[in-house]
Amino acid sequence: MSSSSPDERTLVLIKPDAVRRGLVGEIISRFERKGLRLDAMVQRTLDESFADQHYAEHVDKPFYPPLKAFMTGGPLVALVLSGDQVIEVVRGMIGVTDGRRAAAGTIRGDLSLSNRENLVHASDSVDSAKREIGLWFPELL
Ligand code: ADP
Ligand code: MG
Repeated sequence: MSSSSPDERTLVLIKPDAVRRGLVGEIISRFERKGLRLDAMVQRTLDESFADQHYAEHVDKPFYPPLKAFMTGGPLVALVLSGDQVIEVVRGMIGVTDGRRAAAGTIRGDLSLSNRENLVHASDSVDSAKREIGLWFPELL
């Protein structure tokens, strides 16, 4: 057990549905109570080209056009969180993609009933976290 391994970082988006529904505080509060650190935060509204860059892996998927319309349709809040194994910890806290199937106790399981409007994005690997933090908060790299 090494005490010197640096904490990971992950990129989280509190999506436009969560902002519209007034759930920003609820969602950030869950991450804070878990013990994660909030390293950066900004509110912004995405344009199409930034949405395409963020979701580069999905631009050719059939669900992408409505996803892009949703993600560019209002302000969202982007965060960088850090902590021990934060990438996996946050993915567990948000639950599986489809809010109808996400476990109770997770953010999506407790607060979303949709496969698209599922409140939160979180990086899914060390590589995607690095890419996404570089895109959203290049000053942190
Ligand atoms: P996650 O956000 O859980 O990592 P994905 O990376 O697979 O999920 O998809 C990105 C986002 O695209 C999802 O969070 C959701 O908003 C949307 N999405 C994914 N699959 C579908 C689908 N089958 N129908 C509608 N929207 C979807
Ligand atoms: Mg994903």
